[in-house]
Parts: sequence; structure tokens; C-alpha cells
Amino acid sequence: MNGIKRFLKGIVTLFFPNTCLGCGEIIDEGEFFCDCCFEMLESCSLDKQCIKCGLSKKHCECKYKSFSFSGITAPFYNEGRAQMAMYTYKFRKRIYISDFFAKRISLAVKYSFHGIRFDGICYVPLSGKSLRKRGFNQSREIAYRMSEILGIPLIEEQLGCRKKKYSQHLMPKNKRFENVKGVYYPKKPCHGTVLLVDDIKTTGATLDECTKQLLKSGADAVYCAAGLISHNKYKKRKV
Ligand SMILES: [Zn+2]
Ligand SMILES: [Zn+2]
Repeated sequence: MNGIKRFLKGIVTLFFPNTCLGCGEIIDEGEFFCDCCFEMLESCSLDKQCIKCGLSKKHCECKYKSFSFSGITAPFYNEGRAQMAMYTYKFRKRIYISDFFAKRISLAVKYSFHGIRFDGICYVPLSGKSLRKRGFNQSREIAYRMSEILGIPLIEEQLGCRKKKYSQHLMPKNKRFENVKGVYYPKKPCHGTVLLVDDIKTTGATLDECTKQLLKSGADAVYCAAGLISHNKYKKRKV
């Protein structure tokens, strides 16, 4: 039976080989990038990152904004190969890519939030319509794997999500905080220090609003972790 399975897997690999998420080159099974793309990944320098806003200290936006979460970390910037991998994961439904992001975000959490004991890990929810359309919640899949890697209990369905008036990515960046108001709500009480997972942090509006709901439902503190983080391209706006 094992021989047959191996043979069938060999046939599948022959017709559908594993390819690099960055350049499409054929790579070994279980790998995500070729050596070259892996070297060129848009990694954040965690030692130079501001823990409060997640950006490099040079681009820190804490002067212009204050977030409800206690800290945020992410392994990659929202660009290039890392962004391509995230888009392939989300929009082409390659769920196996959640392993890659879960491992890398977990490393970022261990580094940036060293010494913090988390009581639970939860994730940014999708509205019912988005979940039906996509078929899975990309942040939940990553959080599920991170909970195994980090040994933190996964809190399923801590937050609910109503349909947003406008899709966040279609909104100008300075309107995104308003657009998420009243969208997220707690489904049950929460406690202790919570790690909140999302796929991408752009303005931080979604994570900020979800954090407010977690604190309202009883969490003592909320730290956030995302796969990608956008550079600060807008300034001088107080929130
Ligand atoms: Zn490549
Ligand atoms: Zn900062």
C-alpha cells in the first residue's frame, strides 16, 4: 500500500511539481521558496522594530497615533516575495502556506515578546459573507498552527464580524479607523494576556478595533502579530 501511495505521489509531483512562491522555479517538496528568493525575502529587522507600532524605529508612527494594543510584531514587510506568498495563500487558497507564515510569525513573537506569558491566542474574524466566499479564514489557519508551535491555547471564535460598509482595502487610509467602528464584537468573555493574529497590518485600524473589543470583554492586555506589515506612507494624523 505504501508503495502504491509513493507511486501515486510521484505521478502527482511529476505533473504538479512544488514551485517557489517567489519565482515559480521547481523546488523540493515541503519547501516554500528557492534558495535565492528565500535570501531575498523582505524580512523586518526585529531588533530595529518599534514594539508599539511594529515599524522600524526610523519610521515609527507612535508620535501620530496611539494604539490600544500593547505591542505588535511581524516577520515581513508587505512587499515583494513575502507579499506574493501571502496573496497566493489568501486568494489562490493554498492553505499549506499557512505553515510558512505560522512558523515565521511564531519566531517574531518569541523574539519581540520574549518573557511575556500568553493565556490565549485568537484571530481577526471574517464576516460570514467573506468566509463563505474565501472558504477559510486565513488568520485563523495561521493562529491554529501558531498555537501548536508556541504552546498557547487557541481561542476559537472569540470575536465576531459584521459586514463592513466598505471593504478596508478600498478605503483611503485615513478613513479606515472609522470604517471598522462597530464591525467587530466579542462573542464571549475573555481573560488574561491575549495574542491576536492577523494576516497583514496596514494602518492598524482592524487590529486596534479588535483589541478594544478584547479589552472590553475582559482581557488584561493584547499583543498583536501579523504576517506582513506595511511601511508608513502617511503621517501627521492624530487618532
Ligand atoms: Zn524563487
Ligand atoms: Zn512606534
